[in-house]
Amino acid sequence: MKIFIINKFLKDIIDFVGNRMTTANPPRRKKGWMKLTITKIIQETPDTKTFVFTDQDEPTGLGFDYEAGQYLTIRFDHIGPRPLVRSYTMSSAPREQGYAAITIKQVEQGVVSSWLMDNVKPGDLFLARGPIGKFCFQHAAHNKRLFMIGAGSGITPFISIAKEFEGRLGQDQCPGQLGILGIFRSRRDIICASDLSRFRDNPSIDTQICLTREEHPGYLHGRPDTATLDKVVGSYDNTTFMICGPEEMMDAFKIHINQRGVAPEHILTESFFS
Ligand SMILES: Cc1cc2nc3c(=O)[nH]c(=O)nc-3n(C[C@H](O)[C@H](O)[C@H](O)COP(=O)(O)OP(=O)(O)OC[C@H]3O[C@@H](n4cnc5c(N)ncnc54)[C@H](O)[C@@H]3O)c2cc1C
Repeated sequence: MKIFIINKFLKDIIDFVGNRMTTANPPRRKKGWMKLTITKIIQETPDTKTFVFTDQDEPTGLGFDYEAGQYLTIRFDHIGPRPLVRSYTMSSAPREQGYAAITIKQVEQGVVSSWLMDNVKPGDLFLARGPIGKFCFQHAAHNKRLFMIGAGSGITPFISIAKEFEGRLGQDQCPGQLGILGIFRSRRDIICASDLSRFRDNPSIDTQICLTREEHPGYLHGRPDTATLDKVVGSYDNTTFMICGPEEMMDAFKIHINQRGVAPEHILTESFFS
């Protein structure tokens, strides 16, 4: 598993360097470990927090640009005897100027995610590198309809993407239509609930939430299977899919979506598992 993560990290770096060499206006990047100051902490659910931050050396905001769906690599020097490094996807959107945010869900017996829940306060610093990653909407390569499936903390890239495009759907270089299937255990486990609720009110963002352990009107119920997927997706035509969640779910959905005639290059997945 560690080899997989290192391979993925190296691949993202190679892609990043390649993109930089071919981009007219390369995104702003900082060398070395950036010092990010936590300005605000939002308790999303009992086991999930959003950490809003600014760049310590940039009083007006951030010293780097990012695309919705990209992640930072964060180094933690004080948790154990050796530094620990973990990746976290931005849950803020690039159009939110002057700050960014990551949203972290505590995993059972997770060393870093558990420590973060109790030990970080506003004013503290994160040491971060990046941003990096290709789990983003690419207007030249992807279909105009983007359907995003996120389970648990896997919703974070899609919060960023939907926030980035919600007011610009159909415009140049933007998706025309968004679909979101968010999967959580119960209503109290819904991460970034206010954003998802706003997306639900937007007629161009088909937002559906599935609760695996609670039945409640207005929500799908149970572990979503391929029949649920058919129901929520509707048509598979001219759609690019992005999936982030447990490996088992991503594998099953990937096969099913492909069997429904969607080409592999229109089925993107991001693994959070380490
Ligand atoms: C590209 C990328 C983006 C990511 N973005 C986010 C994000 O936005 N928000 C977020 O909360 N996490 C995200 N993660 C996961 C994050 O990097 C850590 O893996 C996670 O916080 C667990 O770290 P830990 O030190 O607490 O757990 P560890 O101490 O490393 O692991 C403890 C146990 O939990 C299991 N485990 C590890 N990771 C996960 C996981 N993701 N889900 C379930 N079980 C796990 C391990 O197998 C082990 O049994 C991302 C990972 C990657 C690779």
